[in-house]
Amino acid sequence: MGKPTPPPRRSRSARAWILLGILAPLGMVAVCTVMLLELRQDAWDKAEQTSRNLLQVIERDIDRNVEIIDLALKSVVENLRHTDLGELTPKYRQRVLFDRSVNAKDLGVMLVLDENGDVAHDAAQFPPRRMNYADRYYFQAHRTDPGLGLHISRPLKSRLLSAPIVVLSRRIDKPDGSFGGVVLGSLSLSYFDRLFDRISLGKAGTINLFLSDGTRLVRHPVPDPELGPNFGAVPNFRRFLREGSGRFVARTTSDHIERLYTFTKVDALPLILNVALSTQEIEAEWRVKALVIGLLLLALCGLTIGLSLLVDWELRRRTAAEAELAQLSRTDALTGLPNRRAFEDTFERVWAEARRRGSPLPLLVVDADHFKRYNDRHGHAVGDRVLQALAQALSGAARRPGDLVARIGGEEFAILLPDTDAEGAACVAERVHEAVARLVVEAKKGTVGRIRVSIGLGFGLPRAGSGPADLYRLADAALYEAKAAGRDRTCYALMDRMPGQAA
Ligand code: GH3
Ligand code: MG
Ligand code: MG
Repeated sequence: MGKPTPPPRRSRSARAWILLGILAPLGMVAVCTVMLLELRQDAWDKAEQTSRNLLQVIERDIDRNVEIIDLALKSVVENLRHTDLGELTPKYRQRVLFDRSVNAKDLGVMLVLDENGDVAHDAAQFPPRRMNYADRYYFQAHRTDPGLGLHISRPLKSRLLSAPIVVLSRRIDKPDGSFGGVVLGSLSLSYFDRLFDRISLGKAGTINLFLSDGTRLVRHPVPDPELGPNFGAVPNFRRFLREGSGRFVARTTSDHIERLYTFTKVDALPLILNVALSTQEIEAEWRVKALVIGLLLLALCGLTIGLSLLVDWELRRRTAAEAELAQLSRTDALTGLPNRRAFEDTFERVWAEARRRGSPLPLLVVDADHFKRYNDRHGHAVGDRVLQALAQALSGAARRPGDLVARIGGEEFAILLPDTDAEGAACVAERVHEAVARLVVEAKKGTVGRIRVSIGLGFGLPRAGSGPADLYRLADAALYEAKAAGRDRTCYALMDRMPGQAA
């Protein structure tokens, strides 16, 4: 029985190291996560700001151009109301009629159609080119709806310029309010391409201009393969229409790319403009940063965890080595029994315990009889084997968990029997004699012969004023008595009494 070793202080510090090794990387991960989320937010803020600015610039340009053309159309309608226009020469009349149209830079053709759809006046040519536009949707729309105002057509192939255009038109009323024809101006789609060409939106970014019925006038940078496809039923377009202006993230139906859509109505016109940036591209730069930071973090965390595990392993190794050393310093190398130091420590503790509880404490001091002879006759090695055999016999005789068998030195052993009465102790002493008597130790020629021991049994009731040394002295005196009385026996000594002898 050894003193129960206290929990090693190293293990507590090892736990602290492991905790630190886990908490530090967790802290790093938390800080980096917050930082990366902020960087990501910055990337999105930048993309949103860029989209908004672009929309504003484009919207202003389109609005201004449409307004200039509309002013020219309105001016023609106004000029046609003058009754004295007919008095002018046809050439002069044409100049007066279209005086404002010279200001409109992107205006293609400008025509006045009569109520049958024939060209009545042509801003570019005199006499006017002979064409009929009664089949055009805008012509029919103005004819049926006097309150249509400015009408912007779907993209068309121009009959005069053979280029894709949109037609802006207004109705001409006769003095009696009936349909008198249409004035129209064409705006080439190349105007939009020129406008958008200056804008870079990354590989998957697009700019789209829609009519409010869902017809797409322009798509930039990749134009539509056919003129004016309709997106009136597509959810993204329906959202533009519903919300008027704003932004959202959604997949494009045609290519399934996720984009940030920023959209607005172009002033009071039936036009909807949107800028769509690929979310992949918005986050591209951030993703590279996140990857680099993530990898660095991973390496740092790995290093920290690795180091703390290493420290923990080293601490454990040291603790184990120290525990082993401590154990060795308390163990007798020859017999494996606790040595004198371990015995003294335990004796002190058991004594204090017995004193606290008021219980008796027997101590047996066991000494081999004429041990010197084994050494002399059979050599030191055989003497050692006898000591080992004795240790085994003694350990077998004191079997209770609290019992302590120790080698005090040479061929002298001690047996402490806590919580054992005098009768029990005498019984253990008897068992020792029997067990030792049964020992057979081989020597070079046969065996060493019968082995015997003498025992001094001290029996004390620990109390104030006495200590373990007193009980030991008592037992040792009893042992001396046993030797003197002829050996191979046990002598008893009670504390506070003179040692008495018994066979
Ligand atoms: P007694 O009956 O009076 O006790 O006689 P004894 O011979 O047993 O006692 P003594 O003190 O005269 O001799 C003890 C011997 O034990 C002396 C020493 O050489 C031997 N001895 C002590 N330690 C060891 C050991 O570790 N191994 C061996 N082989 N012998 C030892
Ligand atoms: Mg001896
Ligand atoms: Mg001796």
